[in-house]
Amino acid sequence: MKDISEIRSDFPILGRKVYGKALVYFDNGATTQKPQCVIDAVNEILTQKNGNIHRGVHYLSDMASEAYENARQKVASFINASKKEEIVFTSGTTGSINALAFSFGEKYVKEGDEIIVSHLEHHANIVPWQMLCERKGALLKVIPVNQSGELLLDEYYRLLSPRTRIVAVTQASNALGTVTPLREIIDAAHAVNVPVLVDGAQGIQHGIVDVRQLDCDFYAFSGHKIYGPTGIGVLYGKENLLNDLPPYQGGGDMVEKVTFEKTTYNQLPFKFEAGTMNYAGAAGLGTALDYVSSLGREDIALREKELLRYATQKLSSTDRVRIFGNSSNKISTISFLIEGIHQYDTGMVLDKMGIAVRTGTHCAQPVMDFYGIEGTVRASMCFYNTFDEIDALVAGIEQVKKMF
Ligand code: PMP
Repeated sequence: MKDISEIRSDFPILGRKVYGKALVYFDNGATTQKPQCVIDAVNEILTQKNGNIHRGVHYLSDMASEAYENARQKVASFINASKKEEIVFTSGTTGSINALAFSFGEKYVKEGDEIIVSHLEHHANIVPWQMLCERKGALLKVIPVNQSGELLLDEYYRLLSPRTRIVAVTQASNALGTVTPLREIIDAAHAVNVPVLVDGAQGIQHGIVDVRQLDCDFYAFSGHKIYGPTGIGVLYGKENLLNDLPPYQGGGDMVEKVTFEKTTYNQLPFKFEAGTMNYAGAAGLGTALDYVSSLGREDIALREKELLRYATQKLSSTDRVRIFGNSSNKISTISFLIEGIHQYDTGMVLDKMGIAVRTGTHCAQPVMDFYGIEGTVRASMCFYNTFDEIDALVAGIEQVKKMF
């Protein structure tokens, strides 16, 4: 892997100061910073290649369409999809899950059916399924967790029933960092012919994701959490499954032929891409994936494990700090509270020191309810973070304790 100072210099924002202090960015779970190559890729589309995709015969439209379709191929290769037609671009993980919940729900879910999610889910992988359940009179079933924040697999096996239509589960909890046992979850669902959606929003950026090896049926992620731009995301689906699903939005590009009597739909993946898509964002995402590959995904995972180990050891030996989520398998995210101090106070004081952490429920209120707390402070690290920054966080926590 490249030297850490070289890596950091790829990200212009990491060099800036906040309130006159060096920025310590520990909110990578919310969104990651962008390397210059991604900024350049988006800029290139907007300054050199801007034309609406798949529509014009003119040069700029061709250039933009080519960049967009190249990005699709890059995503397919990155997650090892069988073909690029299995890659549907969306606005992000939320967009992907809503699309699937609507489309899948229209086709396969009826009254009395069941959908399984887990207690660790982000709201984006709860609410769209709840909305579907309300529309159809279906039931949401929830895989429970233990005090360490790990899923109880035996309970999951018991929840699977002949009424289960789909299992939608996160790869890693954004609130606690827990990595879920996808192998077991997918195998058990497939044994009873139930498809599985993996919410990869917190998984894709931390290691190698191979959808064919995983054998998940659907996989969703956001560009902005893997060093790409906002407003672009991916819904991967196995070709046969996507082919069988109805479109979820109507409009330009998703059609084959339109008459007032009947409209026929375009082939994959365009059937699911109505209207003008975010082609500049897609190009940026493709470049972000190239960047991550150039660093080496195994090396990224190793470095982040080291950061997690160091931060866990430091924080767990800090007086009055309680860590939430103690699974032995975690991404580099630590949720904690300082005893007797509200998470917002901690976050605000840290912010004034230039340390960006996330505070609150992390869009995962059920997890907070499980622990009987209103929220936590979350430090989510990635490969460009340093051990010195972790020391700065610990020093910041000491400062917070002195103030409250
Ligand atoms: N799922 C998980 C696990 C997440 O962490 C997030 C973002 N915090 C989302 C879904 C939603 O992602 P987005 O806001 O990019 O759609």
